[in-house]
Amino acid sequence: AWESCLVGLIGSGVGPSLSPALHQREADRHGLRCLYRLIDIDPLGIGPEGVGELVRAAARLGFDGLNITHPCKQTVIEHLDGLSEDAALLGAVNTVVFGEDGRAIGHNTDWSGFARSFARGLPDAPTGEIVLLGAGGAGAAVAHALLTVGADRLTLADTDPARAAGLAGTLAERFGAARVRTVPPEGLPAAVDRADGLVHATPTGMAAHPGLPLPVELLRTGLWVAEVVYRPLETPLLAAARAAGCRTLDGGGMAVFQAADAFRLFTGREPDAEQMLTDLSDL
Ligand code: NAD
Repeated sequence: AWESCLVGLIGSGVGPSLSPALHQREADRHGLRCLYRLIDIDPLGIGPEGVGELVRAAARLGFDGLNITHPCKQTVIEHLDGLSEDAALLGAVNTVVFGEDGRAIGHNTDWSGFARSFARGLPDAPTGEIVLLGAGGAGAAVAHALLTVGADRLTLADTDPARAAGLAGTLAERFGAARVRTVPPEGLPAAVDRADGLVHATPTGMAAHPGLPLPVELLRTGLWVAEVVYRPLETPLLAAARAAGCRTLDGGGMAVFQAADAFRLFTGREPDAEQMLTDLSDL
């Protein structure tokens, strides 16, 4: 008999997501019949606050779990029966697992996905001082990952200073005020100048947000640059960073490792993340 797994992704505009292919191809390699459904809240006329209705429906229909994306990662929390420790700390859930007892438990594999991608792609990168550009959802996961794996100090920059300040406040509580600070846009050159590395976590470089997120003159040999955008995999920032002699990491690793960590939670099986990385580059 085939073992099966029924999972899905809830969010806005999830149509182009690569998650179905990543999960289904990995499941195929395990001899597991996996259906990964896309559940777009937009055509359903459901807002982020309506995600609970969909989570309950999925549980009743026998789903094994769900991935949750923008704009539901926070609003889903009140509809769950429990949270992993890191999802509770982050206040964001991207993976829900339905237990046999019917309980829905929220996890966060965005931060662990970035941490594993960073360890694999920039294994001995210095982490004394890191500039993080973008303090939204992806930035929060990246910041948690970097401070968890031992970065000494993080400098947050966001064109919306309130977002940078808000994230800095929660990180300071979690990791200590000495390890986090913010800079206004005009302070970015000096901050990058002092930094060992830069992580980019704004949407800049996607088709809808073309261009570079910072002046190319700030890129220099010796600075490593990690990208969170993964569509496209090769962003103008990565190209400019490589041209400037920087070591680089693309956003594909974070996307794959968050999926791999979710696959393990959904199925209890150990995913082959290297094979999933190869799959991503073919998709
Ligand atoms: P978001 O809207 O929550 O946050 C983006 C933040 O960037 C906002 O606070 C905004 O003010 C800020 N910003 C925009 N332009 C800026 C600039 N030029 N300089 C400084 N700050 C700027 O978005 P998000 O959910 O965090 O997603 C950001 C990107 O990360 C998207 O491209 C998304 O696809 C990608 N992402 C990738 C992964 C992955 O697994 N690789 C996971 C999550 C998100």
